[in-house]
Amino acid sequence: MIKRRRTKTIKVGQVRIGSSAPVVIQSMTKVPTVDIARCVKQVNQLARAGCRLVRIAVPTRADTAAFAKIVQKVNVPLIADVHFSPRRAIEAIEAGAAKVRLNPGNIKNRESIHRIIDAARMHRTAVRIGVNEASIRDLKRQDVPIKKRTALMLKEMKKYLRLFENHNFTQLILSAKSRDVLRTIEINRMIAETFDYPIHLGLTHAGLPEDAQIPSSITLGTLLAEGIGDTIRVSAADSPIIETEIAKQILIALGLYERTRPELIVCPTCARAGIDVIKLARRVEKALRSIDKPVRVAVMGCVVNGPGEAADADLAVCAAKNKGYIYRKGRKISTVPESKIIPTLLKELKKL
Ligand code: SF4
Repeated sequence: MIKRRRTKTIKVGQVRIGSSAPVVIQSMTKVPTVDIARCVKQVNQLARAGCRLVRIAVPTRADTAAFAKIVQKVNVPLIADVHFSPRRAIEAIEAGAAKVRLNPGNIKNRESIHRIIDAARMHRTAVRIGVNEASIRDLKRQDVPIKKRTALMLKEMKKYLRLFENHNFTQLILSAKSRDVLRTIEINRMIAETFDYPIHLGLTHAGLPEDAQIPSSITLGTLLAEGIGDTIRVSAADSPIIETEIAKQILIALGLYERTRPELIVCPTCARAGIDVIKLARRVEKALRSIDKPVRVAVMGCVVNGPGEAADADLAVCAAKNKGYIYRKGRKISTVPESKIIPTLLKELKKL
């Protein structure tokens, strides 16, 4: 069981973020914000997929106007993603953003930051202060050593935090991102040691889903296993539903999120396999799509190691030549021909 880091608890709409609350998955819409119908549809899809917060970019005045309408049409708290413009931040806050994401490094004028803080206070809007490695001038060179990089990012974070705390604003969530796995892990460890605000975790960009999964899983997984991280976003160049699915898998693997659907365990197969394990596993996976229970199902290639390794599965099939031995919670219950493996598993699943 992971012991989460103790932090302040920050409310984003009705969602609590911080040590006492479950880790929250978020993602971003990837359709034009001004296309209100598509944006609302995607927010709702993300909420169904497991996002409890959804972020929307608002680069123009037309976007914040659309944002105001989208807020009215969805039940999930929305985060406005602001990059450079203090005016956009204030418009988004007034439009009903539950949180705004700011990179104060991009907003040079201190007075502007104070105006954003005043608006956020008035509307009870939380603020995520994001420090991105790429936006710190001295870190653009690749040969800056990791210790110096993280120290500079921490210094930036301290500077921004002072702006908010000196203005008596503490409804804050912190994030420090890089595209690099080790640097992101290191800077977030330092932030976790230095501050008691909740932390949002993510990489700035990680590639197509097949390339993004591993860096995101290592970065987020390492930090979450150490108790660091209160809200996460997986970045992948594809549908945000895929990002959400990956985020959910990371949390399930760490025991931070309850499984609601079947888990399929498959042996890696070897020369002992009595059957085409991969083909059978694909068929079982397809059959399990219609099941809505958190059951563990194992497909093992032989009876040499299969029964022992699948002992903790609710249901297992251990294959032999042209047949399968079916196990329920480690006990053999039947032997069936290969063609009956899937129907037997489905029948037994219904009984669980
Ligand atoms: S369960 Fe059997 S077939 Fe599968 S990897 Fe283990 S020994 Fe090989």
